[in-house]
Amino acid sequence: MKIKIKNNIPVITIDGPTAAGKGTISSSLARRLGWSILDSGAIYRSLAFFIIQNNISCNDINAILRLLKTLKFSFHSNDIYVNNLNITNKIRNEDVGKVASIISENSNIRDSLLNIQRHSIQEPGLIADGRDMGTVVFPFASLKIFLTANIDVRVERRYKQLITSKVSVNISNLRSAIMDRDLRDTERVLSPLIPAYDAHVIDSSYLTNDETVSIILDLWKNRLY
Ligand code: C5P
Repeated sequence: MKIKIKNNIPVITIDGPTAAGKGTISSSLARRLGWSILDSGAIYRSLAFFIIQNNISCNDINAILRLLKTLKFSFHSNDIYVNNLNITNKIRNEDVGKVASIISENSNIRDSLLNIQRHSIQEPGLIADGRDMGTVVFPFASLKIFLTANIDVRVERRYKQLITSKVSVNISNLRSAIMDRDLRDTERVLSPLIPAYDAHVIDSSYLTNDETVSIILDLWKNRLY
């Protein structure tokens, strides 16, 4: 597919495994730079949410593509709306994450979501958070980060997030759900979870959010182009 994008607007991509802190770091960066943010996982999750609601099988790709045509995604600050309905708090649980991960292996589904993601570029810049932002969606990005952290830290972070959002969760189920999802995302053929060849890999296991943000802002200020 030919990439039609507004090439002169800067993009910083933040890819990485589940619960590596991509969302928090992306929000801080967006605030600090005054840029907008694309939470691409929220798009896959929203589609997954409606698949579950409509009792559609993950194998029924035609039905999923038909459903997708009826959904209009929009973003306002950190919230995602589908057909004008704010579903931000309904898509965060691991059941939705699992379905998102299963359907995101399909090439037709990924292709159908590509334009929505690319159209989110707007002045003065975009922070794009996901799995394939630097490799596939925005290969021309000005700065690419692959943010990771060890599994214990990631489980702990996601556990706290879910508890804060009042989502009930069992920590050992959560750990295996995160590990399964990362494995599926890493091993899939299309847009696998891997750092772009020109990405900076940051292990945030022992960094505070402020430290991670300042490393990225330094990379941004000192970039060569
Ligand atoms: O980032 P988040 O955990 O919300 O993403 C949910 C799932 O959506 C991921 O596990 C992954 O399978 C899929 N996803 C993807 N490509 C992206 C973002 C998310 O395949 N750019």
